[in-house]
Amino acid sequence: MSGIRTDLTGQVAIVTGSTSGIGAAMAEALAENGAHIVLNGLGDADEIEALRAKIAAHHGVEVRYHGANMLKADEIADMVATTEKEFGRLDILMNNAGIQHVSPVEDFPVEKWDAIIAINLSSVFHGARAAIPIMKRQGKGRIVNLASAHGLVASPFKSAYVAAKHGVMGFTKTLALEVAEDGITCNAICPGYVKTPLVENQIADTARARGISEEEVVRDVMLAAQPTKQFITYEQLAGALLYLVSDAGANMNGSWISVDGGWTAK
Ligand code: NAD
Repeated sequence: MSGIRTDLTGQVAIVTGSTSGIGAAMAEALAENGAHIVLNGLGDADEIEALRAKIAAHHGVEVRYHGANMLKADEIADMVATTEKEFGRLDILMNNAGIQHVSPVEDFPVEKWDAIIAINLSSVFHGARAAIPIMKRQGKGRIVNLASAHGLVASPFKSAYVAAKHGVMGFTKTLALEVAEDGITCNAICPGYVKTPLVENQIADTARARGISEEEVVRDVMLAAQPTKQFITYEQLAGALLYLVSDAGANMNGSWISVDGGWTAK
């Protein structure tokens, strides 16, 4: 027996941006392994409640929702504080919320730049800042930042996103060094293209920015970068996440797992 466990029974996890796409899938993967979940994100209240109830019923864990807007530092801090108040602990913080905008730099709307830096980068800082004291008191914690292949390499027309995700990588390494002796790890997951609502929107936007068809965007732009020519699946990302939060991942710190079909090997 290796003694390696991925049992998260009794642990508490916040997943930001978990009302949709990757975040919803990662919240469900953590719940499936026994963790209580705090969902977060924007969306229709009835749909969010249906998702909350579904995850709770399927996996027999407590699932709550906190509507913190990732643009607002005080709301992020309240989400973390409320989690500790309601559950008495916080074991896993997955910073996943993110948005995208595709445009040449000279036309890039200033408010889009500000929103992407705030949601994709600064919210990671605000969440971690609030979570670290709780995790230090516990002597254990896992912070996982959903970065991107665009945290490691660039693509044209995604300046704010690429800048924010590179920033997330720098923050991940810095925080990892600060908390290394406290039983806390901080790592990133860097996916290639996963077919989520965010990517669906990007297909149309990229087609417009480059003046090509949506089919050409999928074949020649998105999956051209991904040597396997396949979108990344939620299950493949869940595998990376579960490793990082498991006992086996305890000495993985300030690092990242690329799940990009070989994109960043080029
Ligand atoms: P998505 O649009 O399906 O989900 C984004 C989530 O973030 C939603 O729950 C949304 O409500 C939430 N969100 C957005 N703005 C928010 C705000 N102001 N406050 C609170 N929540 C907010 O997108 P996704 O593809 O699942 O993306 C999730 C993460 O994965 C993002 O950080 C994205 O950059 C990253 N990522 C995605 C891909 C991909 O191919 N889809 C690849 C690499 C990295």
